[in-house]
Amino acid sequence: MGKRVVITGGAGFIGTHLCRRLLESGYKVICIDNFISASAVNSRPLNKDKNFTFIKQDICKYIALSGKLDYVLHCASLASPEDYLRFPIQTLKVGSLGTHNSLGLAKRKKAIFMLFSTSEVYGDPLVHPQKESYWGNVNPIGVRSCYDESKRFAEALTMAYHRRHKLDARIVRIFNTYGPGMRVNDGRVIPNFIYQALHNKPLTVYGRGRQTRSFCYIEDLVEGLYRLMLSPINEPVNLGNPNEFTIMQLAGLILKITGSKSKIVFKSLPQDDPRQRKPDISKAKKALKWEPRISLTEGLKKTIPWFK
Ligand code: UDP
Repeated sequence: MGKRVVITGGAGFIGTHLCRRLLESGYKVICIDNFISASAVNSRPLNKDKNFTFIKQDICKYIALSGKLDYVLHCASLASPEDYLRFPIQTLKVGSLGTHNSLGLAKRKKAIFMLFSTSEVYGDPLVHPQKESYWGNVNPIGVRSCYDESKRFAEALTMAYHRRHKLDARIVRIFNTYGPGMRVNDGRVIPNFIYQALHNKPLTVYGRGRQTRSFCYIEDLVEGLYRLMLSPINEPVNLGNPNEFTIMQLAGLILKITGSKSKIVFKSLPQDDPRQRKPDISKAKKALKWEPRISLTEGLKKTIPWFK
């Protein structure tokens, strides 16, 4: 109770939900964000809470904070393909310099550090489903490499601090997540399809829509993040929903739930778009006693009203 937590990127989609959860659990939360891909609207309701502090800062610059700190949750990143394709250098900088500064802060304060990594470290996976022990299949110079490689570097740096400085670190590999609070223009598939369906615009399926993803509802993810934060696990842990859907199946489901008359149009498949993705969550199940509870249909029904 009363523990102090820093969340970098705390004004983003996942960050805001986690800030709220931590405040509800009695933590003092310091949120740092530069709003490159987040909106001030998300965290505005939290400003009323006396245990919430907001600092507008780019974490690629030195993070000066006084007082004790119990946790540094390093969530800052440009996580939507549209965002990181638009800001590739900032993406590389936040994954490298931003991670370095966040680790430095945790080390100075003797705080527990948690890196928010991604299923993108597996690239276009040749192993299915993806276990934490899989090393991945990443194009180091492709358009997605700014994200994939900076997160792989961030994991390497975190493990180096853990090994060399005995920093108490956690690494979470987050798979596709969705829910209320995502930006309408986020660019990812669920916000795009919901927006298009609600406006009777054609749903833009990239490629032939045979690629797969496994979508986790935000409340399920936040529960997993919270459990991992409190656990003693220093190695990467996958968090995501293992129910796998093709993008065409997702489009059909969103059309059905919204009752939209939108058509489907096929657009070219982005370069290096992973063909399949599904987490193996046996580690999280065993070590955290965690698994997602909310089905895709249920989660979409909770998400669509927010987009409306
Ligand atoms: N996608 C799509 N239409 C869209 C946006 C995305 O078909 O309007 C596809 C994209 O090519 C990918 C999948 O949906 O195969 C998930 O894309 P997203 O951008 O949500 O995240 P990713 O999992 O690729 O990081």
